[in-house]
Amino acid sequence: MHWQSQLVSPETLAPGGFRSLVTPVYRGSTVLFDNAAQVVDDWRHAQHGYTYGLYGTPTAIELGVRIAQLERARHSFIVPGGQAAIALVYLACCGAGSHALVPFSAYGPNRSMADGLLKRMGIEVEIYDPLIGAGIGGLIRPNTMLVWTESPGSVTMEVQDVPAIVAEAHARGVPVALDNTYTAGVYFDAFAHGVDISMQALTKYVGGHSDLLLGSVSVNSEAMFERVGSAFADLGMGASPDDCSLALRGLQTLGLRLERLQTSTLAVARWLHLQDCIATVLHPALPSCPGHELWKRDFTGATSVFSVVFQESVSAEQVNAFIDALRMFRIGMSWGGTSSLVMPYPDLARPNRHYRGRLVRLNVGLEAPEDLIADLRQAMARAAIQEPAVAA
Ligand SMILES: *Cc1c(COP(=O)(O)O)cnc(C)c1O
Repeated sequence: MHWQSQLVSPETLAPGGFRSLVTPVYRGSTVLFDNAAQVVDDWRHAQHGYTYGLYGTPTAIELGVRIAQLERARHSFIVPGGQAAIALVYLACCGAGSHALVPFSAYGPNRSMADGLLKRMGIEVEIYDPLIGAGIGGLIRPNTMLVWTESPGSVTMEVQDVPAIVAEAHARGVPVALDNTYTAGVYFDAFAHGVDISMQALTKYVGGHSDLLLGSVSVNSEAMFERVGSAFADLGMGASPDDCSLALRGLQTLGLRLERLQTSTLAVARWLHLQDCIATVLHPALPSCPGHELWKRDFTGATSVFSVVFQESVSAEQVNAFIDALRMFRIGMSWGGTSSLVMPYPDLARPNRHYRGRLVRLNVGLEAPEDLIADLRQAMARAAIQEPAVAA
């Protein structure tokens, strides 16, 4: 063989039998078949064997199987991000003329998709109060194809009565999807509570180090497996094996990180609750959070993201000065990594909630909680919101 032919030969020359503890990064678009009769093009890799890299390399499939195990799902599809997972759920369940229901506490870009892309496609998305519970039945129409839930909700943290919503939706033949990113699929058992599709942004806790973007869509029934799977293949939502490999590494420490984040976050939230300048702490494990009783009933833990609402006497300028004075809490989107983060929401639009300009979302990281509390205390003093003596 010419040396140029040798160079591109796909044969593996290294000896086999390397048994690493770690799932290898399998990069590949083309999958080789042994003979012409064997050729198939099917996204159902578990049934037909591997056919094409877009439907999942072994690295992506390994991550999917482990997410499915964690969420006690039949199957988890791995997609390029949490927002891609949301889009996949809509496109698997809805078409022109469909109606879908979304809580006003849903992740912002979920609602933006409803106002833009989905509207253009003839899909009508109606916003509902996350605390509606069994009242959801009154909003379901003959063309309702999907009810979204997200619990606790983004930013305002309302805990939803998911079992009550599921009961009403299922009585009318409508599937329920859950954005389960907050619990990493760990502290709320979506399928035991009747949910049909559970998605999460693996970008957050599973990745855990702010260095990747991935999402998962988990299903439990054969019908949903087929419906989501064919949309997944049609949309070409394959994920990078390098990112999947990082997420598999993130899974190794997910248990430890979640445990530590829960206790640190509760320490910080409880300290904030005692401060005179804070009107409300929106953390599901505290009674001041809307739906706290439902959290106690349905959840087995809390994670790292929560919000505080300053007293009405605190101006929007003081809130910004407080955020700017923080040293350990950095200003940035996303959460669930190792670093503490803070985010203002000056234009937050929520019916029946008067948080405008006074709500701040915090994400607690793996720093020592006493350092984080000291940081919050000095920032309150620097922003002249609260005397350091009062805080001490
Ligand atoms: C971050 C987030 C998403 C989107 O995830 P990306 O990977 O950033 O696209 C979806 N839902 C919730 C609740 C999130 O916090």
